[in-house]
Amino acid sequence: MPRSERNRLSLRVPFRKEEPAYALLGRLALRYGHVSMRSFADCMGLRRSHRYGSETLTAVAELSGIDLTELARWSPISCSPHNFQYQGTVFNGYKWIPERRRLCPLCVQEDLSVSKESRQPWMCHRRFWWDFSGIDACPTHRTWLINGCPDCKGEFESDYTNLQTCRCGYDLADYIPDVLSESDCKMDAYILARLLGSPHSRLDPFEDMPLPLAIRAISGLGSAEVFRNGNQNAIDQKQRLECKIAAGELFRSWPQSFDEGLDRRVAEWMAHQSYEIADGAPSVYGRLYRWLNRHRDSTYDVLRSRTAQHYFSQVAPHRRTKLFGCWSCPLGRISIDDLNTQLALLEAVLPGSSRTGDRRLS
Ligand SMILES: [Zn+2]
Ligand SMILES: [Zn+2]
Repeated sequence: MPRSERNRLSLRVPFRKEEPAYALLGRLALRYGHVSMRSFADCMGLRRSHRYGSETLTAVAELSGIDLTELARWSPISCSPHNFQYQGTVFNGYKWIPERRRLCPLCVQEDLSVSKESRQPWMCHRRFWWDFSGIDACPTHRTWLINGCPDCKGEFESDYTNLQTCRCGYDLADYIPDVLSESDCKMDAYILARLLGSPHSRLDPFEDMPLPLAIRAISGLGSAEVFRNGNQNAIDQKQRLECKIAAGELFRSWPQSFDEGLDRRVAEWMAHQSYEIADGAPSVYGRLYRWLNRHRDSTYDVLRSRTAQHYFSQVAPHRRTKLFGCWSCPLGRISIDDLNTQLALLEAVLPGSSRTGDRRLS
């Protein structure tokens, strides 16, 4: 269809907040009887456009008659082959937009409940954050985002436009999902609020980190808390949420709750080790130490210094003890006994020196 004729589309869909351009295109497609977004895009002459490209955004705004600026508020735009940009922040595409589509079944049911008479599958709209892998549960409905049909278990395809009814015929309006607790969804609620720019309670020290870094820190530190000493690379959705909940506990009241977490690690370490804590700096904190040591970004300095401070409060100052490159015993804090030992060694090796008087320091 020539570009000039796009505006002549008479069937429209109502604008919905939080719906990205590619999802709005899917709803328009469904309204026109296309269950394949690709086939509809071909008809509209959008064949070569990348789903997350700015061309798609412009074309969909034109096609739907929705204000471009308003639509752009909810649309992640690809800015390089591996990244996309959302509200001025660059996110890693592989990590953030999974190929499998996800949805909240209760958001879908809410969309359908607006008007029972005019219930149409194209009334259900995709929220852009369903596709962010940093979020696993819908904070509004406190239920899992699902990535496949509860009945036939088929994956949700990015090309398929019907959110309500699976290809197998299963209607999501009939699905009764598990409901999680409010505390289980707290971290996802925090991530979503930051993504949307909504008011939220502070969560230090993540508050000062850009959102992609904050999410990486929440997941990484939570994972180091859940899998204290072992390595766990491939984790499922439930374990991912478990890690975020653990991070939430660790930072529920910074820095006291973080210190308490470190105390627990030291207590566990002491219960299972026979050698001195001063000998085992990295081991004491397990994966937490390894994670903080690997991520040398200055954003994590505050966490490293808090951990070092905790460690040094557990061991006697010693000039050979260090954590994250910080010595437990800076020069000014070398003990008197240490200095006396050094002095005795010096006197023993220097020619002509003898211990005639009491040269010991006190
Ligand atoms: Zn929901
Ligand atoms: Zn199905």
